[in-house]
Amino acid sequence: MREPLAAIDEFPRVRLGHAPTPLDPAPRLGAALGLELWIKRDDCTGLAFGGNKVRQLEFYLGDAQARGADTILTSGAVQSNFVRVAAAGARQLGMDIHVQLEDRVEPADDLYGSSGNVLLDRLLGATLHSFSAGPDETPAAETAADDELDRRAQALAATGRKPYVIHNGVGHPPVGGLGYVVAVGEFLEQARAEGVRFDAVVCASGGGLTHGGILAGMRALGEKAPVHGVCVRRAADEQRVRIAKRATEIGALIGCSETFHPDDVDACDTVLPPGYGKMSKAVGDAISMAARLEALLLDPVYTGKAMAGLVDLVRAGRIAAGSRVLFVHTGGLPAIFSYAAALEPWLAEPSTTRE
Ligand SMILES: *Cc1c(COP(=O)(O)O)cnc(C)c1O
Repeated sequence: MREPLAAIDEFPRVRLGHAPTPLDPAPRLGAALGLELWIKRDDCTGLAFGGNKVRQLEFYLGDAQARGADTILTSGAVQSNFVRVAAAGARQLGMDIHVQLEDRVEPADDLYGSSGNVLLDRLLGATLHSFSAGPDETPAAETAADDELDRRAQALAATGRKPYVIHNGVGHPPVGGLGYVVAVGEFLEQARAEGVRFDAVVCASGGGLTHGGILAGMRALGEKAPVHGVCVRRAADEQRVRIAKRATEIGALIGCSETFHPDDVDACDTVLPPGYGKMSKAVGDAISMAARLEALLLDPVYTGKAMAGLVDLVRAGRIAAGSRVLFVHTGGLPAIFSYAAALEPWLAEPSTTRE
C-alpha cells in the first residue's frame, strides 16, 4: 500500500484555504457536556468565510484548472455553503461561475432567499439559476440536478466556453473527500503535539464527503476511534449506506483496499426532525449553549445539528462520559443571518434601559 497521505499528492489540487486550521480546547462547553472537548476549527479555512467545502473544492477546482476550464458549474440548496465556496474559489482562479440553487427548504421568510450565502453568491457575481428539486433527498433528485448542470454545460461549450461541472450525485468519484483525509492527517499531528488522543470524532453528515473522508482517513492512518456522523439530511439507515460507499471509494483513491460496510458507520439521526435546514428546540439549545459558554458560533443547518447530536450521543451513552472528543466545526456561519427569525427564541432581549 502507498503511504495514504503521499497518494493524495497525485491528484490535482489548488490551495484555496488557510491550513492547518486551529485545534482548540473547549473547556467550558466540554464541562457542560461531561467531556474533554476539542474543536477542529474548519470554520477557519479562510476563503469567503471558509468551512469544510474549502478543503473539498481544492480538489475539484484543481482538476478544473488542470483541464483548462474557464467556467465552473455546480448545484446546491439555496443556502448552500458548497455553492458559495465554489463561487469564491472560481473567482480566485479567474473563472466564471454558474450555480443552480435547488429549492429544498420551504422558506420561512424573505431572508432565506436573499441573505446569508445567497447574498455572498451574488456579491461574488455568480450567475444564479433556480432548480425545482422538490422536498425529497432522493438519489433521483440528485441525478436530475446533475443532468440539468450537464445540459447547461453543453450549452456553454457550444458558445466556446470550457465548462467544468462539479456533480453532487453518488455516481461521481468523491475526490473532494480527499480534503478530509488531509484534515485527518492534520488533526492527528496536532493532537500528537498536544499529547492527546481522541476517543471519538463527531461531525455533521450531509453529502458525506466529510464524514466519509474522516472515516477513511482515520482507518488508513491506523486510528480506530469511532467517527460519529450526525445526520442533517437523511435517516441514519440510509446515511450509513451512503457513508460506507463514500468511505470505501475515498479509501480506494488513496490506495486502501478496505471495504466499509453500513454496520461500520456510526450515524445518529435523533436530531434530524423536522428535516433538512429546519430549526428545532434541540438545535437552538445547542447553538445557544455553544455561543454562551464558549463563544463558539454554530449554524442551524449543520454544526448546530451536529452539536445537538453530540448532546444526544452523550445522553444515550454512545459516547461515554469523560471521553476525549473531537468536534469538527465544518463552518456554515453565513447561514446564521438568514435564520434570524428562527433563532429569535434563543436571543437575549434587547436592552430596554437607558443610561
Ligand atoms: C456541507 C456541509 C456539511 C456536510 O458536509 P458533507 O461533506 O456534505 O457531508 C457540514 N457542515 C457544513 C457547514 C456544510 O456546509
